[in-house]
Amino acid sequence: MLKRLFAPAFVSIFIISHPSFAADDWKIIKVNGRDYLTVDNISKFYGLPAEVAPSGAQIKLETVKDPLEFIRDSREVIINGARSWLCFPLLEHDGKFLVSRTDVAKTIEPLVRPHRVANVGQIRTVVLDPGHGGHDKGAVCRYGSEKNFALDVARQLRPLLHAKGLRVIMTREGDYFVPLEVRARIANAARDSIFVSIHFNATDRDPSATGFEIFSFTPRGAPSTSDNWVTSSSASVQAGSRVDAQSMALSACIYHSLLGHIPEFDRGIKRARFAVLRLTEVPAVLVEGGFLTERGESRLIAEKDWRGRLAQAISVGIENYRALAVKKQPPMLVADYRRQGKSVLGVPIEPVVQEVDSSLADLIGESAFPLPTPASTPPRAPSLESDVIVP
Ligand SMILES: [Zn+2]
Repeated sequence: MLKRLFAPAFVSIFIISHPSFAADDWKIIKVNGRDYLTVDNISKFYGLPAEVAPSGAQIKLETVKDPLEFIRDSREVIINGARSWLCFPLLEHDGKFLVSRTDVAKTIEPLVRPHRVANVGQIRTVVLDPGHGGHDKGAVCRYGSEKNFALDVARQLRPLLHAKGLRVIMTREGDYFVPLEVRARIANAARDSIFVSIHFNATDRDPSATGFEIFSFTPRGAPSTSDNWVTSSSASVQAGSRVDAQSMALSACIYHSLLGHIPEFDRGIKRARFAVLRLTEVPAVLVEGGFLTERGESRLIAEKDWRGRLAQAISVGIENYRALAVKKQPPMLVADYRRQGKSVLGVPIEPVVQEVDSSLADLIGESAFPLPTPASTPPRAPSLESDVIVP
């Protein structure tokens, strides 16, 4: 159904009929001193259909219709079939839906067009950081400790990355604690490196909480995903990262692979100022591979084979990140992986509760992205050099 609305022919007509989407086609709207762009403006710029769900709506992935699905008054957004979190909530103003300029530049652009992020994918070394260690067990469940599960994922991941010709450095090889600043220093000392920290989740608030999430560093001037955006006083003073667009691209590549290969709940692509993300100067992400506080999920995490699937999915995501530098094309998305019909182990994946419907699967394949724009009429991407876009 959506395919009909947005067939490739329509995309090309759309792009060609806007040969001069120029800088001033970003129409900035100021609200309380903050810069915003309309959802309509963003949708047109990217050539991606967008939808705004009512406030408080629970977006179910199987009902997602458009590549950009926003929720009124919310920071939650579904981008190309995976949940993501804006720094600032969607605003309604004068009958228009507005997205902060920070989010257009720092969230939407690197998630929608990770292949266009400057210096993206240039990696020789992957620094794997199994969380915790030694006296710091991390989360604990009846089957074991986070520190051991994370180390095992890294150990299973290492040969997979070696097989792809990547150098691998582990921040720890055994059950001992490594200070967080040392972990970051290891990554910063390696040439052309990325940093992938592996953790498992826990919560005492909701024993039924499950699912994957991935974090990269919060942009300057923005609250983290878990912060209350209204009361966050730290938001404006914290420094950002020069590589946050690359980190978001890495988040997107790994997260789509994770969700595409393993049918776990989608908690989303998030931002945080965790020490290892703050102190690393290279593209860095922190993966939370499920909850040890939920019985079923903790049982899965305790299985070596399941951790192997996690390692496989992360390795495919890293490979896709590296491929961005070469192919200059969008990476594979959740629906692409699921359409393959097989997991990375060659085992068909089980049907999943939150499987996207086929119209979305069609939509968020290749046709979801604007066709390559003629070199003479490049659309102006939001600038990633500074914390805000240059319209
Ligand atoms: Zn942890």
